[in-house]
Amino acid sequence: MAQLIDIIRVVVGPEYLTATVRVSNDAPLMTSEDLEGTTRVYNLLPTIINHACVGDAGSTFKDCMGNTELAHLLEHVTVELLSRTNLVDEVVAGRTWRELAYDRTFSIQLDCADDVLVAGALSSAVWIISWAFTGGAGPVPDVDATVDGLVQLVRSLPADGATADDRYDDQRDRYDDRYEDRYEDRYEDRYADQYDRYDDYEDEQVDRGPRMSQKIF
Ligand SMILES: [Zn+2]
Repeated sequence: MAQLIDIIRVVVGPEYLTATVRVSNDAPLMTSEDLEGTTRVYNLLPTIINHACVGDAGSTFKDCMGNTELAHLLEHVTVELLSRTNLVDEVVAGRTWRELAYDRTFSIQLDCADDVLVAGALSSAVWIISWAFTGGAGPVPDVDATVDGLVQLVRSLPADGATADDRYDDQRDRYDDRYEDRYEDRYEDRYADQYDRYDDYEDEQVDRGPRMSQKIF
């Protein structure tokens, strides 16, 4: 099964995970170009149509599902998988926009309580979309097993209850430490040199004895 969407880049911030994706040349850009594929996704995840969705037609995803960007469908499949894990307290929200500078490229921004969970859900969603829009051949994706797999994935992480925020803070701390070390080393080296030069200068002055300019004072 061909991968119809490539995840080019993922940026994890304290609030959001933002993925840049490229829709392959073989894939439809719009769901309306392959309504059978769109229906396959609907049959797999029927509750997807109840998602709040502003910006396109109407106020729920139902109003635009049949005529929207494939990347936007990917966003909603990801959100649906995330909400089915019951690992996220609040309603997960996402946003999708086209990167006009690049061909067939979109950014998807997702609320991110846990970067591992969100990235996992996104790649599972890519797999579901790829299955649905390449004729639906082969075994039908098992949504429950996928959701279960995501839950296991998150549980397999250190059981210290670290959230994405904690991991982000850890990362910052490590970065700050490294930066401080490097900065201090360099700072000390440079000033050590300067102090040495100053000492030399003082010695030199003592050797020379008081100079004319110093007599003014
Ligand atoms: Zn939407």
